[in-house]
Amino acid sequence: MQSAGQKAAGYVVAVLAIGAAVAALKPFTTHINQTTVALALLLVVLFIATRFGSRPAVLAAIAGVFSFNFFFLPPVGTLTIADPDNWIALAAFLITAVTAGELSARARRRAEEAEAGRREIERLYTELRDAFERASEAEALRRSERLKSALLDAVTHDIRTPLTSIKASVTTLLDELRTETNKPAALDSEGRREMLEVIDEEADRLNRFVESLLELARIEAGQLDLRRRWGTVEEIITAALDRAKQLTRRHQIELRIEDELPTLRVDARAVAEVLYSLIDNAAKYSPPATKIKVTASRLEGEMLQIAVEDEGPGIAPQLRERVFDKFYRAGRQTTGSPAGTGLGLAIARGIVEAHGGRIWIEEAGTGLGARVVVVLPCGGEDRDTAEQMSKADIALTA
Ligand code: ATP
Ligand code: MG
Repeated sequence: MQSAGQKAAGYVVAVLAIGAAVAALKPFTTHINQTTVALALLLVVLFIATRFGSRPAVLAAIAGVFSFNFFFLPPVGTLTIADPDNWIALAAFLITAVTAGELSARARRRAEEAEAGRREIERLYTELRDAFERASEAEALRRSERLKSALLDAVTHDIRTPLTSIKASVTTLLDELRTETNKPAALDSEGRREMLEVIDEEADRLNRFVESLLELARIEAGQLDLRRRWGTVEEIITAALDRAKQLTRRHQIELRIEDELPTLRVDARAVAEVLYSLIDNAAKYSPPATKIKVTASRLEGEMLQIAVEDEGPGIAPQLRERVFDKFYRAGRQTTGSPAGTGLGLAIARGIVEAHGGRIWIEEAGTGLGARVVVVLPCGGEDRDTAEQMSKADIALTA
Protein backbone atom coordinates (compact mmCIF):
# COMPACT_ATOMS: atom_id res chain seq x y z
CA MET A 1 0.00 0.00 0.00
CA GLN A 2 1.15 3.52 -0.79
CA SER A 3 1.32 6.45 1.59
CA ALA A 4 -0.09 9.89 0.71
CA GLY A 5 3.48 11.16 0.15
CA GLN A 6 4.21 8.39 -2.29
CA LYS A 7 0.96 9.13 -4.15
CA ALA A 8 1.79 12.83 -4.53
CA ALA A 9 5.30 11.89 -5.66
CA GLY A 10 3.73 9.76 -8.42
CA TYR A 11 1.92 12.81 -9.94
CA VAL A 12 4.99 15.02 -9.63
CA VAL A 13 7.23 12.41 -11.26
CA ALA A 14 4.62 11.92 -14.00
CA VAL A 15 4.70 15.60 -14.98
CA LEU A 16 8.49 15.87 -14.57
CA ALA A 17 9.14 12.76 -16.65
CA ILE A 18 6.99 14.01 -19.53
CA GLY A 19 8.72 17.40 -19.26
CA ALA A 20 12.14 15.75 -19.35
CA ALA A 21 11.18 13.59 -22.34
CA VAL A 22 9.91 16.63 -24.23
CA ALA A 23 13.07 18.58 -23.39
CA ALA A 24 15.22 15.68 -24.58
CA LEU A 25 13.26 15.22 -27.83
CA LYS A 26 12.70 18.86 -28.75
CA PRO A 27 16.22 19.57 -30.15
CA PHE A 28 15.78 16.70 -32.65
CA THR A 29 12.41 17.76 -34.11
CA THR A 30 13.90 18.12 -37.57
CA HIS A 31 15.41 14.61 -37.56
CA ILE A 32 12.66 12.52 -35.98
CA ASN A 33 9.05 12.13 -37.03
CA GLN A 34 5.99 12.51 -34.84
CA THR A 35 5.42 8.77 -34.47
CA THR A 36 8.78 8.38 -32.75
CA VAL A 37 7.93 11.22 -30.39
CA ALA A 38 4.53 9.67 -29.62
CA LEU A 39 6.12 6.29 -28.90
CA ALA A 40 8.76 7.83 -26.65
CA LEU A 41 6.05 9.64 -24.68
CA LEU A 42 4.05 6.42 -24.53
CA LEU A 43 7.06 4.72 -22.94
CA VAL A 44 7.11 7.38 -20.25
CA VAL A 45 3.40 6.77 -19.58
CA LEU A 46 4.04 3.04 -19.27
CA PHE A 47 6.91 3.64 -16.90
CA ILE A 48 4.74 5.86 -14.69
CA ALA A 49 1.92 3.29 -14.76
CA THR A 50 4.14 0.45 -13.62
CA ARG A 51 5.87 2.52 -10.95
CA PHE A 52 2.98 4.60 -9.57
CA GLY A 53 -0.30 3.11 -10.76
CA SER A 54 -3.06 4.19 -13.10
CA ARG A 55 -3.92 7.72 -11.90
CA PRO A 56 -0.44 9.25 -12.24
CA ALA A 57 -0.33 7.41 -15.60
CA VAL A 58 -3.54 9.17 -16.73
CA LEU A 59 -1.98 12.50 -15.69
CA ALA A 60 1.17 11.58 -17.65
CA ALA A 61 -0.99 10.68 -20.66
CA ILE A 62 -2.81 14.03 -20.53
CA ALA A 63 0.44 15.94 -20.06
CA GLY A 64 1.87 13.91 -22.93
CA VAL A 65 -1.09 14.79 -25.21
CA PHE A 66 -0.75 18.48 -24.49
CA SER A 67 3.04 18.52 -24.92
CA PHE A 68 2.79 16.44 -28.08
CA ASN A 69 0.23 18.83 -29.52
CA PHE A 70 1.97 22.00 -28.34
CA PHE A 71 5.60 21.15 -29.13
CA PHE A 72 5.49 18.69 -31.98
CA LEU A 73 2.24 18.86 -33.97
CA PRO A 74 2.06 21.66 -36.52
CA PRO A 75 1.39 24.46 -36.03
CA VAL A 76 4.04 24.11 -33.32
CA GLY A 77 3.71 26.39 -30.28
CA THR A 78 -0.11 26.35 -30.28
CA LEU A 79 -2.79 23.97 -29.13
CA THR A 80 -4.57 24.20 -32.45
CA ILE A 81 -4.34 21.37 -34.93
CA ALA A 82 -4.22 22.08 -38.62
CA ASP A 83 -4.27 18.62 -40.21
CA PRO A 84 -7.36 16.53 -39.34
CA ASP A 85 -5.06 13.43 -39.55
CA ASN A 86 -3.26 14.76 -36.52
CA TRP A 87 -6.51 14.78 -34.58
CA ILE A 88 -6.71 11.07 -35.19
CA ALA A 89 -3.05 10.63 -34.16
CA LEU A 90 -3.65 12.58 -30.98
CA ALA A 91 -6.78 10.62 -30.10
CA ALA A 92 -4.97 7.35 -30.82
CA PHE A 93 -2.13 8.45 -28.60
CA LEU A 94 -4.46 9.37 -25.76
CA ILE A 95 -6.44 6.13 -25.95
CA THR A 96 -3.30 4.01 -26.23
CA ALA A 97 -1.62 5.81 -23.36
CA VAL A 98 -4.61 5.51 -21.04
CA THR A 99 -5.30 1.87 -21.94
CA ALA A 100 -1.68 0.81 -21.72
CA GLY A 101 -1.33 2.74 -18.48
CA GLU A 102 -4.42 1.08 -17.07
CA LEU A 103 -3.23 -2.39 -18.15
CA SER A 104 0.23 -2.06 -16.68
CA ALA A 105 -1.22 -0.57 -13.49
CA ARG A 106 -3.53 -3.57 -13.29
CA ALA A 107 -0.60 -5.95 -13.75
CA ARG A 108 1.16 -4.15 -10.96
CA ARG A 109 -1.89 -4.46 -8.71
CA ARG A 110 -2.06 -8.16 -9.47
CA ALA A 111 1.60 -8.54 -8.54
CA GLU A 112 0.96 -6.66 -5.32
CA GLU A 113 -2.03 -8.82 -4.53
CA ALA A 114 -0.03 -11.97 -5.24
CA GLU A 115 2.72 -10.70 -2.97
CA ALA A 116 0.18 -9.93 -0.23
CA GLY A 117 -1.29 -13.40 -0.69
CA ARG A 118 2.15 -14.94 -0.41
CA ARG A 119 2.83 -13.00 2.77
CA GLU A 120 -0.52 -14.06 4.19
CA ILE A 121 0.25 -17.70 3.41
CA GLU A 122 3.68 -17.31 4.98
CA ARG A 123 2.14 -15.82 8.10
CA LEU A 124 -0.44 -18.60 8.35
CA TYR A 125 2.28 -21.17 7.80
CA THR A 126 4.42 -19.71 10.58
CA GLU A 127 1.45 -19.64 12.91
CA LEU A 128 0.55 -23.20 12.04
CA ARG A 129 4.12 -24.38 12.49
CA ASP A 130 4.38 -22.67 15.88
CA ALA A 131 1.10 -24.20 16.99
CA PHE A 132 2.27 -27.56 15.75
CA GLU A 133 5.57 -27.26 17.58
CA ARG A 134 3.79 -26.34 20.78
CA ALA A 135 1.44 -29.29 20.36
CA SER A 136 4.24 -31.72 19.71
CA GLU A 137 6.16 -30.44 22.72
CA ALA A 138 3.07 -31.08 24.82
CA GLU A 139 2.74 -34.51 23.25
CA ALA A 140 6.41 -35.27 23.93
CA LEU A 141 5.95 -34.22 27.54
CA ARG A 142 2.88 -36.39 27.87
CA ARG A 143 4.73 -39.33 26.36
CA SER A 144 7.70 -38.87 28.64
CA GLU A 145 5.39 -38.72 31.67
CA ARG A 146 3.69 -41.88 30.47
CA LEU A 147 7.05 -43.53 29.93
CA LYS A 148 8.25 -42.53 33.37
CA SER A 149 5.31 -44.14 35.08
CA ALA A 150 5.58 -47.23 32.87
CA LEU A 151 9.29 -47.48 33.68
CA LEU A 152 8.59 -47.18 37.37
CA ASP A 153 5.96 -49.86 37.06
CA ALA A 154 8.36 -52.10 35.18
CA VAL A 155 11.16 -51.61 37.66
CA THR A 156 8.84 -52.47 40.52
CA HIS A 157 7.45 -55.48 38.78
CA ASP A 158 10.34 -56.82 36.76
CA ILE A 159 13.22 -56.09 39.09
CA ARG A 160 11.81 -55.98 42.57
CA THR A 161 9.56 -59.02 42.32
CA PRO A 162 12.32 -61.41 41.18
CA LEU A 163 14.76 -59.87 43.64
CA THR A 164 12.29 -60.37 46.47
CA SER A 165 11.84 -64.05 45.57
CA ILE A 166 15.60 -64.59 45.25
CA LYS A 167 16.25 -62.86 48.55
CA ALA A 168 13.54 -64.89 50.32
CA SER A 169 14.87 -68.21 48.98
CA VAL A 170 18.47 -67.41 49.78
CA THR A 171 17.58 -66.28 53.30
CA THR A 172 15.67 -69.52 53.93
CA LEU A 173 18.58 -71.61 52.67
CA LEU A 174 21.11 -69.67 54.72
CA ASP A 175 19.00 -69.88 57.89
CA GLU A 176 18.79 -73.56 57.40
CA LEU A 177 22.55 -73.89 57.02
CA ARG A 178 23.10 -72.01 60.27
CA THR A 179 20.67 -74.08 62.31
CA GLU A 180 21.43 -77.41 60.67
CA THR A 181 24.09 -78.42 63.18
CA ASN A 182 21.91 -78.53 66.28
CA LYS A 183 18.36 -78.99 64.90
CA PRO A 184 16.81 -81.44 62.49
CA ALA A 185 16.69 -79.91 59.01
CA ALA A 186 13.48 -77.98 58.27
CA LEU A 187 13.88 -78.50 54.53
CA ASP A 188 14.28 -81.81 52.81
CA SER A 189 16.37 -82.02 49.69
CA GLU A 190 13.25 -81.55 47.55
CA GLY A 191 12.50 -78.30 49.36
CA ARG A 192 16.06 -77.10 48.91
CA ARG A 193 15.90 -77.94 45.26
CA GLU A 194 12.71 -75.91 44.88
CA MET A 195 14.36 -72.90 46.50
CA LEU A 196 17.31 -73.19 44.18
CA GLU A 197 15.01 -73.50 41.19
CA VAL A 198 13.22 -70.32 42.22
CA ILE A 199 16.57 -68.54 42.41
CA ASP A 200 17.57 -69.91 39.04
CA GLU A 201 14.33 -68.92 37.33
CA GLU A 202 14.13 -65.49 38.87
CA ALA A 203 17.76 -64.76 38.07
CA ASP A 204 17.02 -65.77 34.47
CA ARG A 205 14.04 -63.47 34.45
CA LEU A 206 16.16 -60.57 35.70
CA ASN A 207 18.77 -61.37 33.12
CA ARG A 208 16.22 -61.42 30.31
CA PHE A 209 14.83 -58.11 31.45
CA VAL A 210 18.25 -56.48 31.51
CA GLU A 211 19.06 -57.97 28.11
CA SER A 212 15.82 -56.61 26.66
CA LEU A 213 16.57 -53.20 28.12
CA LEU A 214 20.03 -53.25 26.57
CA GLU A 215 18.71 -54.34 23.21
CA LEU A 216 16.11 -51.59 23.26
CA ALA A 217 18.77 -49.05 24.20
CA ARG A 218 20.87 -50.22 21.23
CA ILE A 219 17.88 -49.91 18.90
CA GLU A 220 17.08 -46.44 20.17
CA ALA A 221 20.69 -45.34 19.77
CA GLY A 222 20.66 -46.76 16.22
CA GLN A 223 23.43 -49.14 17.17
CA LEU A 224 21.73 -52.35 16.25
CA ASP A 225 24.47 -54.36 14.61
CA LEU A 226 22.60 -56.17 11.86
CA ARG A 227 24.48 -59.15 10.47
CA ARG A 228 22.74 -59.65 7.16
CA ARG A 229 23.08 -62.85 5.21
CA TRP A 230 21.12 -64.52 2.44
CA GLY A 231 18.68 -67.10 3.72
CA THR A 232 15.13 -68.41 3.37
CA VAL A 233 12.04 -67.40 5.29
CA GLU A 234 11.48 -71.05 6.05
CA GLU A 235 14.75 -71.31 7.99
CA ILE A 236 13.91 -68.25 10.03
CA ILE A 237 10.35 -69.33 10.86
CA THR A 238 11.51 -72.85 11.73
CA ALA A 239 14.18 -71.47 14.07
CA ALA A 240 11.61 -69.29 15.84
CA LEU A 241 9.07 -72.11 16.15
CA ASP A 242 11.76 -74.46 17.49
CA ARG A 243 12.75 -72.00 20.12
CA ALA A 244 9.11 -71.46 21.08
CA LYS A 245 8.30 -75.18 21.22
CA GLN A 246 7.91 -75.23 25.00
CA LEU A 247 5.65 -72.17 24.97
CA THR A 248 3.38 -73.50 22.24
CA ARG A 249 3.07 -77.09 23.41
CA ARG A 250 -0.57 -76.56 24.37
CA HIS A 251 -1.49 -74.86 21.08
CA GLN A 252 -2.02 -76.07 17.56
CA ILE A 253 0.49 -74.55 15.18
CA GLU A 254 -0.52 -74.11 11.57
CA LEU A 255 2.30 -73.17 9.23
CA ARG A 256 1.63 -71.93 5.72
CA ILE A 257 4.59 -70.85 3.61
CA GLU A 258 3.91 -69.92 -0.01
CA ASP A 259 5.88 -71.82 -2.65
CA GLU A 260 8.91 -70.31 -4.32
CA LEU A 261 9.44 -67.38 -2.01
CA PRO A 262 12.53 -65.31 -2.80
CA THR A 263 15.49 -65.48 -0.43
CA LEU A 264 16.00 -62.71 2.07
CA ARG A 265 19.09 -60.83 3.12
CA VAL A 266 18.41 -60.11 6.78
CA ASP A 267 19.91 -60.69 10.18
CA ALA A 268 18.30 -64.11 10.60
CA ARG A 269 18.83 -64.25 14.34
CA ALA A 270 17.17 -60.85 14.87
CA VAL A 271 14.20 -61.64 12.61
CA ALA A 272 13.76 -65.03 14.29
CA GLU A 273 13.70 -63.18 17.60
CA VAL A 274 10.90 -60.95 16.28
CA LEU A 275 8.87 -64.01 15.26
CA TYR A 276 9.63 -65.73 18.56
CA SER A 277 8.28 -62.69 20.37
CA LEU A 278 5.08 -62.75 18.30
CA ILE A 279 4.59 -66.49 18.76
CA ASP A 280 5.28 -66.06 22.48
CA ASN A 281 2.57 -63.40 22.65
CA ALA A 282 0.13 -65.52 20.64
CA ALA A 283 0.66 -68.46 22.99
CA LYS A 284 0.63 -66.32 26.11
CA TYR A 285 -2.50 -64.34 25.37
CA SER A 286 -4.71 -67.00 23.77
CA PRO A 287 -6.35 -69.96 25.52
CA PRO A 288 -4.75 -73.42 25.29
CA ALA A 289 -5.81 -75.75 22.46
CA THR A 290 -6.55 -72.85 20.14
CA LYS A 291 -4.78 -72.37 16.84
CA ILE A 292 -1.74 -70.19 16.11
CA LYS A 293 -1.32 -69.59 12.40
CA VAL A 294 2.03 -68.54 10.93
CA THR A 295 2.00 -67.54 7.27
CA ALA A 296 4.57 -66.25 4.81
CA SER A 297 3.81 -64.82 1.40
CA ARG A 298 5.28 -62.69 -1.30
CA LEU A 299 4.23 -59.08 -1.87
CA GLU A 300 4.86 -56.80 -4.82
CA GLY A 301 8.15 -54.94 -5.09
CA GLU A 302 10.51 -57.53 -3.59
CA MET A 303 8.74 -57.64 -0.25
CA LEU A 304 7.87 -60.55 1.97
CA GLN A 305 5.06 -60.72 4.46
CA ILE A 306 5.05 -62.87 7.56
CA ALA A 307 2.03 -62.94 9.84
CA VAL A 308 1.29 -64.54 13.20
CA GLU A 309 -2.38 -64.98 13.99
CA ASP A 310 -4.04 -66.30 17.15
CA GLU A 311 -7.53 -67.01 18.44
CA GLY A 312 -7.26 -65.13 21.72
CA PRO A 313 -9.08 -61.98 22.82
CA GLY A 314 -7.28 -59.82 20.22
CA ILE A 315 -6.14 -56.25 20.75
CA ALA A 316 -8.66 -53.38 20.72
CA PRO A 317 -8.17 -51.10 17.70
CA GLN A 318 -7.28 -48.08 19.84
CA LEU A 319 -4.47 -50.04 21.52
CA ARG A 320 -2.95 -51.52 18.36
CA GLU A 321 -0.30 -48.79 18.15
CA ARG A 322 0.16 -48.33 21.86
CA VAL A 323 1.20 -51.93 22.50
CA PHE A 324 4.39 -51.10 20.55
CA ASP A 325 5.35 -48.53 23.21
CA LYS A 326 8.06 -49.78 25.49
CA PHE A 327 6.87 -51.11 28.84
CA TYR A 328 3.28 -50.86 27.71
CA ARG A 329 1.19 -53.84 28.77
CA ALA A 330 -2.54 -53.89 28.19
CA GLY A 331 -4.34 -55.14 31.28
CA ARG A 332 -1.28 -55.22 33.51
CA GLN A 333 -3.49 -54.47 36.52
CA THR A 334 -5.50 -57.66 36.41
CA THR A 335 -4.06 -60.37 38.56
CA GLY A 336 -3.34 -63.66 36.94
CA SER A 337 -2.55 -62.06 33.59
CA PRO A 338 0.51 -63.60 31.91
CA ALA A 339 3.93 -62.29 32.92
CA GLY A 340 5.88 -60.01 30.63
CA THR A 341 7.89 -56.84 30.56
CA GLY A 342 6.08 -54.97 27.80
CA LEU A 343 9.25 -54.78 25.75
CA GLY A 344 8.62 -57.58 23.26
CA LEU A 345 6.72 -55.60 20.62
CA ALA A 346 8.85 -52.47 21.07
CA ILE A 347 11.99 -54.49 20.32
CA ALA A 348 10.25 -56.31 17.47
CA ARG A 349 9.33 -53.01 15.83
CA GLY A 350 12.88 -51.70 16.31
CA ILE A 351 14.37 -54.74 14.59
CA VAL A 352 11.85 -54.74 11.73
CA GLU A 353 12.30 -51.04 11.07
CA ALA A 354 16.08 -51.36 11.17
CA HIS A 355 15.64 -53.76 8.25
CA GLY A 356 13.53 -51.18 6.41
CA GLY A 357 10.32 -53.11 7.09
CA ARG A 358 7.03 -52.46 8.86
CA ILE A 359 5.06 -54.21 11.59
CA TRP A 360 1.48 -53.68 12.66
CA ILE A 361 -1.51 -55.37 14.25
CA GLU A 362 -4.80 -56.25 12.60
CA GLU A 363 -7.92 -58.16 13.42
CA ALA A 364 -7.39 -61.86 12.74
CA GLY A 365 -8.94 -63.19 9.54
CA THR A 366 -11.40 -65.22 11.62
CA GLY A 367 -12.62 -62.00 13.28
CA LEU A 368 -11.28 -63.43 16.54
CA GLY A 369 -7.85 -62.84 18.00
CA ALA A 370 -4.89 -60.77 16.95
CA ARG A 371 -2.91 -60.87 13.74
CA VAL A 372 0.54 -59.30 13.72
CA VAL A 373 1.91 -58.58 10.27
CA VAL A 374 5.58 -58.10 9.43
CA VAL A 375 6.62 -56.87 6.00
CA LEU A 376 10.29 -57.02 5.09
CA PRO A 377 12.15 -55.97 1.95
CA CYS A 378 14.10 -58.87 0.50
CA GLY A 379 17.19 -56.68 0.83
CA GLY A 380 18.81 -57.42 -2.53
CA GLU A 381 19.86 -53.87 -3.33
CA ASP A 382 22.88 -53.61 -1.01
CA ARG A 383 24.82 -56.76 -1.76
CA ASP A 384 28.16 -54.94 -1.37
CA THR A 385 28.02 -54.83 2.41
CA ALA A 386 27.53 -58.58 2.65
CA GLU A 387 31.27 -59.25 2.89
CA GLN A 388 31.77 -56.74 5.64
CA MET A 389 28.90 -58.23 7.59
CA SER A 390 30.17 -61.75 7.40
CA LYS A 391 33.57 -60.62 8.67
CA ALA A 392 31.91 -59.03 11.68
CA ASP A 393 29.95 -62.23 12.00
CA ILE A 394 33.03 -64.38 12.24
CA ALA A 395 34.61 -62.00 14.73
CA LEU A 396 31.59 -62.23 16.98
CA THR A 397 31.02 -65.93 16.75
CA ALA A 398 34.69 -66.85 17.19
P1 ATP B 1 7.38 -59.24 26.91
O1 ATP B 1 7.08 -59.57 25.50
O2 ATP B 1 8.39 -58.17 27.06
O3 ATP B 1 7.66 -60.41 27.75
P2 ATP B 1 4.64 -58.44 26.88
O4 ATP B 1 4.26 -59.64 26.11
O5 ATP B 1 3.69 -57.96 27.88
O6 ATP B 1 6.06 -58.61 27.55
P3 ATP B 1 4.66 -57.07 24.38
O7 ATP B 1 4.99 -58.31 23.68
O8 ATP B 1 5.34 -55.81 23.95
O9 ATP B 1 4.91 -57.21 25.92
O10 ATP B 1 3.10 -56.84 24.27
C1 ATP B 1 2.51 -55.69 24.82
C2 ATP B 1 1.09 -55.94 25.23
O11 ATP B 1 0.29 -56.18 24.08
C3 ATP B 1 0.91 -57.18 26.04
O12 ATP B 1 1.10 -56.92 27.41
C4 ATP B 1 -0.53 -57.58 25.75
O13 ATP B 1 -1.39 -56.85 26.58
C5 ATP B 1 -0.73 -57.09 24.34
N1 ATP B 1 -0.60 -58.20 23.37
C6 ATP B 1 0.50 -58.51 22.66
N2 ATP B 1 0.27 -59.55 21.83
C7 ATP B 1 -1.02 -59.93 22.05
C8 ATP B 1 -1.87 -60.94 21.49
N3 ATP B 1 -1.42 -61.80 20.58
N4 ATP B 1 -3.15 -61.02 21.94
C9 ATP B 1 -3.60 -60.14 22.87
N5 ATP B 1 -2.87 -59.16 23.42
C10 ATP B 1 -1.58 -59.05 23.04
MG1 MG C 1 5.51 -60.25 24.49
